[in-house]
Amino acid sequence: MNHLLCQVCGESTFGRRDERHLFLARAAAGQPIEEGEKTTTPPVHDRCAIEAVRDCPELRKGATASLVEYTPSWGVAGVVYDPRTLQPLPGDCDDGLTFVAYEDPAIRWTLAAREVVTLHGCTTVDLDDLDAHAAAA
Ligand SMILES: [Zn+2]
Repeated sequence: MNHLLCQVCGESTFGRRDERHLFLARAAAGQPIEEGEKTTTPPVHDRCAIEAVRDCPELRKGATASLVEYTPSWGVAGVVYDPRTLQPLPGDCDDGLTFVAYEDPAIRWTLAAREVVTLHGCTTVDLDDLDAHAAAA
């Protein structure tokens, strides 16, 4: 995530003429990626997004894509420990992790698993248009 490497092929996603990065997300209800949305999911290349939507069972249920201008670091997703008992606290997310902002005092009691960034300057992209672009390239 720190280097905005593609989550499919692992290569850099820098180099688009528009200097944006493509983010792909599950969207079973068809909801777009929102301005300021937090994510732990790295960006993808156009061709890798098409491959992911074709081959990933979760994304086949519904996916949305957005070209994003700016992705500042927000915090981490990790396991938060109770400072008194030193026991792990239940996570907020499906994967058992909790999003903790860098300025949150709980960050000192968090074992980070992933970086969280926020997505800004989001423009929703039609996945079918992406398909046509990749086919033409
Ligand atoms: Zn890729």
